[in-house]
Amino acid sequence: MQVQIISIVIPVYNEEKNLPLLLKGLATVMDKTQKTYEIIFVNDASTDKSLETLKKLDSEYPHLRIISFSKNCGQSAAFDAGFKLSRGEIVVTLDADLQYDPRDIPRLLEKIRYYDVVCGWRKNRRDPWLKLVSTKVANGLRNRLSGENIKDTGCSLKAFRKCFLSEIKMYKGMHRFLPTLLKMQGAKVTEIEVRHLPRKYGRSKYNIRNRIFRSFADLLAVIWMKKRNLNYKMEVIK
Ligand code: UDP
Ligand code: MG
Repeated sequence: MQVQIISIVIPVYNEEKNLPLLLKGLATVMDKTQKTYEIIFVNDASTDKSLETLKKLDSEYPHLRIISFSKNCGQSAAFDAGFKLSRGEIVVTLDADLQYDPRDIPRLLEKIRYYDVVCGWRKNRRDPWLKLVSTKVANGLRNRLSGENIKDTGCSLKAFRKCFLSEIKMYKGMHRFLPTLLKMQGAKVTEIEVRHLPRKYGRSKYNIRNRIFRSFADLLAVIWMKKRNLNYKMEVIK
């Protein structure tokens, strides 16, 4: 029987203090699953010691792989690079900020046996109130205008069947719309509740200004794509 590989892809921008704890937590959980796995960190040109920290951790963790960008390109680019490097049939994504609990990963892996994409839903989200309110408004608007019903598309903790990810051409900001774009490719998408923790170290890279307006422009693009999606069934006659 062919061994299934799990690739965990994590974008990193100035997360030096989170990385040792995150890697330890991930390795503990993944070793227990007895699955073959790799953890791919994509350093998005951090200006702190994130890259040095990852290099130092390399000798302790045989499953660790590191990509590094020469300039900051954003989370979608980091995901894209990680997806391309990944060797697994299943790809799990999460943030490097310790706000997700690695113990939820086995639950995603169990669920993806029956689906193509499993999205985390932070039912009890632990973020500042302004972020909670703005995300709620953005999610409502996004779902309404794009005819979608995903509760928490901003949740990075997700699992994907790699064959679907390989079909997607990523653009800046598109990581927020992956479930919708993959549904357009015929993927079966579901959501499960995941834990969420307050950020202890480092800062969120997004604020209302750099998120809402850009995401709205991205939303218009996705609505257009959805409307103009080619959707034919054909029979080859001869
Ligand atoms: N990140 C990145 N490049 C960026 C911005 C963010 O690689 O330009 C990473 C960041 O280190 C984190 C993830 O993407 O692992 C999500 O960012 P963050 O946690 O700051 O966003 P939030 O969860 O607060 O919306
Ligand atoms: Mg985060």
